[in-house]
Amino acid sequence: MTYDIEKIRSNFPILNQEVYNKPLVYLDTAASAQKPIQVLLKQEQLHNEYYGNIHRGAHFMADKATLEYEQVRDQVAAFVNAKSRKEIIFTKGATESINLVASSFSEKFINEGDEIIVSEMEHHSNIVPWQMAAGKRGAKVVKLPFNDLGILEMEKLPGLITSKTKLIAVNHVSNVLGTINPIADIIELAHKNNVAVMVDGAQAAPHISLDMQKLDVDFYAFSGHKLYGPNGVGVLYGREKWLEEMPPYQGGGQMISEVSFDGTTFNELPYKFEAGTPNISNLAAFGAALKFINEIGIENIARHEHELLVYGTSRLKEIDGLKIYGEAPQKSGVLSFNIDGIHFYDLGMMIDKMGIAIRTGHHCADPIMQHFNMQGCARISFGMYNTKEEIDAFMDAFDKVKVMF
Ligand code: PLP
Repeated sequence: MTYDIEKIRSNFPILNQEVYNKPLVYLDTAASAQKPIQVLLKQEQLHNEYYGNIHRGAHFMADKATLEYEQVRDQVAAFVNAKSRKEIIFTKGATESINLVASSFSEKFINEGDEIIVSEMEHHSNIVPWQMAAGKRGAKVVKLPFNDLGILEMEKLPGLITSKTKLIAVNHVSNVLGTINPIADIIELAHKNNVAVMVDGAQAAPHISLDMQKLDVDFYAFSGHKLYGPNGVGVLYGREKWLEEMPPYQGGGQMISEVSFDGTTFNELPYKFEAGTPNISNLAAFGAALKFINEIGIENIARHEHELLVYGTSRLKEIDGLKIYGEAPQKSGVLSFNIDGIHFYDLGMMIDKMGIAIRTGHHCADPIMQHFNMQGCARISFGMYNTKEEIDAFMDAFDKVKVMF
């Protein structure tokens, strides 16, 4: 199948504009993806035609909104090949999904002296919740390091797992290094030792075809806004046997089956973990995003982004004094770098004035910055709509701004 980039781009009106009188080049999809018109229209349609609170209404609009909400759950279950729709919990985003597990899993299964292994290349959202949980439970966080190529030191993992280890937290794809981690191997090893695995899939879900049953993973988290959907919605896939045993994360409406001052019984899965009114219209729009992605095909998107990664890597290497962080052979469309003598903030600001949006800073991954002994770096990241011409535009813009440093 040919990848019709012009057709794909035509669905993203935001890309077709000028900023600072220059054509916009958006190279920051790892931070958040732009939304196709189908997503924006779905939000509008729900608000204009059938808005109502879900699950508890006795009227046409509430019923229709509920039906759509639950259909999106089925869509997500199919998207990740979950065994059951009960295993799909809707959250605010990957961060909330991980916090849910850190809080509820640790309350039930982590005790004083236990250990949680966390990889060194995690986003803060897959480190801090575990530190907080460990602090509350008297447990310890143990680091799984990565090497200077940005590859996890897998040979060290068997030695880190002890009889005290209860969970391993690792991302599927690093938002800084782009590394695609060998999560199937990690899960296999963990399960041989009766250890659960929490995978942060925030950067993987938009680029890799997911199969929860094949992966045999315990928990997998991702965000709608990185999947071309709206922000404020996310997913936690959790294996049913864990979710059944874990206590609820938050209390409130929807997560109960009966409440009295003598006690409360909780709702069945997945509702036990969905307290309060959810993000109804954004969730419906997330369904539209998944449909859009499925129509193009995640493998086609991945192939296109890989071509951009290869091209972008070779073009960036033309720049004198440029160092790329993350050189794993299995890598997603993320290029983090620094250039000798140029502060990443200055680069980001000047390149922005040329119409080019990149990301700079610590990328919510301080331990990666510490590993490379740096304050931060610049990052280019690709989505389904990017082109080689946009990489060329970055290079041309860099040629113009470099004389100012
Ligand atoms: N994990 C990774 C690897 C990420 O890149 C991000 C966001 O950049 C997150 C987690 C957090 O996602 P969210 O802010 O959507 O909850």
